[in-house]
Amino acid sequence: MSWIDPDFPRIAEPTDLVGRVLGLNPGMLTGPGTNTYLVGRSHPILIDTGAGVPEYLSLFAAYLERRGWARPERIVLTHRHRDHMGGVTPLRERFPGVPVAKMIFKDAALPDGIQDLHDGQPVAGEGVTLIPIHTPGHASDHLCYYLPEEQALFTGDLILGGSTTVIPDEDGDLGQYLDSLRRVQGLGVRRIYPAHGPVIEDAPGKIQEYLDHRMLRERQILEMLGGGARTIPDMVKAIYTDVPVALHGHAAMSVHSHLKKLKQEGRVAEEVVPGAPSRWTLR
Ligand SMILES: [Zn+2]
Repeated sequence: MSWIDPDFPRIAEPTDLVGRVLGLNPGMLTGPGTNTYLVGRSHPILIDTGAGVPEYLSLFAAYLERRGWARPERIVLTHRHRDHMGGVTPLRERFPGVPVAKMIFKDAALPDGIQDLHDGQPVAGEGVTLIPIHTPGHASDHLCYYLPEEQALFTGDLILGGSTTVIPDEDGDLGQYLDSLRRVQGLGVRRIYPAHGPVIEDAPGKIQEYLDHRMLRERQILEMLGGGARTIPDMVKAIYTDVPVALHGHAAMSVHSHLKKLKQEGRVAEEVVPGAPSRWTLR
């Protein structure tokens, strides 16, 4: 996959309010790795912590030193997935007492002492404010962070630089995901800082592209059902002709997310077949 860019810079300063340190966890789902952002002119707020790769901690410490910063003032998380939260424990060991917050929602196994963050509850830093925006769909606890000083949005995994977002069977919900995209569309965002991949300068264009992509997929699926396709494997084979077979598991999850949404809307019916894929029909 091309979006695992080995030359992606490990550190960057997109603006004087935002610094970035790469989580050093490249992969098919993470691209070049998870971006962790330091926001503020001093006493920075850290958004996300990567997967807990040991080399990240050294890179992070070296970056702080270069900026003349002793420690992150606080840590906020976009959601509970491992590639965003895995660095919490090592960072707390290195910076004892640093407060960590996320939206606590359907969370079973969080590290101790994580504070709850609500939609709209501002987090103030040095010359910056972060406004958490609850944006479920990829994960039920997902927050984006709006930075009014730049009209910018830290999108976590809602919008990525270089790939589409996975809607997991467990805890994902495509209908909620589309509602979340429409909600951030209404914020008047200009720049996007995604959790994976490069900064996106044309935020309105990218949000529309994401919405259009899902709408196109939905039309394709409805057309295939109209043409007689019945099972997810059949639809994946027909739609994802240009995608390596290794990714067909994720493609199947994506088709399933559409079918679940259409079923909730009463537009398709599912016939569960024991020991075989469900059979789907238009209603
Ligand atoms: Zn995620």
